[in-house]
Amino acid sequence: MTRIIIDAGHGGTRRIGNSSAYGGQAPGGLLEKDVTLDIARAVVGRLGGGAALTRAADGNLSLGARAAMAARSGAEVFVSIHANSGPPESTGAETWVHPEAAPGSRALAKGVQQSLDRLAGRYGGAAEPHAGQMAVLSPAAVGRRTDACLVEVDYLSNPRGAARLGDPRQRAAIGAAIADAIQAHLGNGARHATYGDRPSPDPYIVPDPSSYTGRGLMEFVRAWAGYFSRWARWRAGVPHDAYHYFPHSAICELELSGPTFARGFGTGFYIGPNKILTCGHNFKSGGDTTTQVIVRPGKSPVQSIWPSQTFAVNWRDVVHPRWAASEDDDWDMAVLNVPGLAAPNGEYFSLPNATPAQTEQIVVCGYGKFQGDGSANDPDEGQYLDGGNISHATFEQYHFPIQSIPGHSGSPVFWNDMAIAILTGPRILGRRLSDHENRGVRLTPEKNDWILSR
Ligand SMILES: [Zn+2]
Repeated sequence: MTRIIIDAGHGGTRRIGNSSAYGGQAPGGLLEKDVTLDIARAVVGRLGGGAALTRAADGNLSLGARAAMAARSGAEVFVSIHANSGPPESTGAETWVHPEAAPGSRALAKGVQQSLDRLAGRYGGAAEPHAGQMAVLSPAAVGRRTDACLVEVDYLSNPRGAARLGDPRQRAAIGAAIADAIQAHLGNGARHATYGDRPSPDPYIVPDPSSYTGRGLMEFVRAWAGYFSRWARWRAGVPHDAYHYFPHSAICELELSGPTFARGFGTGFYIGPNKILTCGHNFKSGGDTTTQVIVRPGKSPVQSIWPSQTFAVNWRDVVHPRWAASEDDDWDMAVLNVPGLAAPNGEYFSLPNATPAQTEQIVVCGYGKFQGDGSANDPDEGQYLDGGNISHATFEQYHFPIQSIPGHSGSPVFWNDMAIAILTGPRILGRRLSDHENRGVRLTPEKNDWILSR
């Protein structure tokens, strides 16, 4: 059943009625019709089966035909996606509703506005939706039971807006923010108590990778602090140049294999000149055990910066005894000694000598298949750097609102040069895994003693 119709503004090469083909254009040539289609696809991709597009390809439709799709399917939500044009200094998202729309449309628009404002790092009171006689939002055309709004996601006429809308990852983040606002709207509307059976991941800020530069730890720390000052949560792909320097040089991709599986990925990090810390489940998870691991320190998505080496392992020798005995989440840790593969530059993470506050800002960095599928042709295997706050702590674990990425297991949870935990994966809430929260094994003095004894 289609509950949500997402309209990608404009399209094709011919005006149809009042729908122009190309829409606005950025100074560099980027067309509104392409931006809207990509974002609309991201929205529907995230919402899943209950959502559909007015156009799935580069073609135009009249405004009436777009609205009619919502009426025909009896959709509860209709969102038309556009990109703005105006004076070069204008920036940010704008939402619109029809003046005759029911209050639900206004609530929907407000939710979308707020979600996009948060994505752009603006918290606090969101701008009120504008009202306009827009044919695509006419209640007579979309259906009186459909909550409908139009969103101008950002300004193509602004250089920063154009750069943002030209970046596929930023478009994906914008799509995710709109999708989450729609889900929240349907959840709050009491028409249906829930949408789907799992919460969707929180949207992330994806900062411009060129803003993440530096040579050495302190410059990187300044970059993290800058992100934290603007956004509570963010994810950044680590640029190629950064792999030469600590901390990224000390973070290793682990390619794992064993009798029951051909290829898996995890992350580990140096905590000594020839010593790597990671999670226990990279070596033993149920009946799957790892017998060989390829360790690749500071591997960039496009080439190896540092030498790699293959090690044969016996999982019993590397995992913590309490993980070996019971797979106890509090002890999901392993120490791998890597003779002959020294920490690049001789730099490695320190173990904690203090206890961070529960709300401490933390950084996680690991080898995630964020966009790549891990196939041989897929080069997207670089490090991803995530920032968030510790939301909850137990004696043995930290929890934080950072999504899990396959391949991230065993990543350092750190601040400055101090690893405070090992990322182990989604937090269990009730009896299911959370999409919102990950957890890490906390490096307590007792655990540090075991690590140092290995
Ligand atoms: Zn438009």
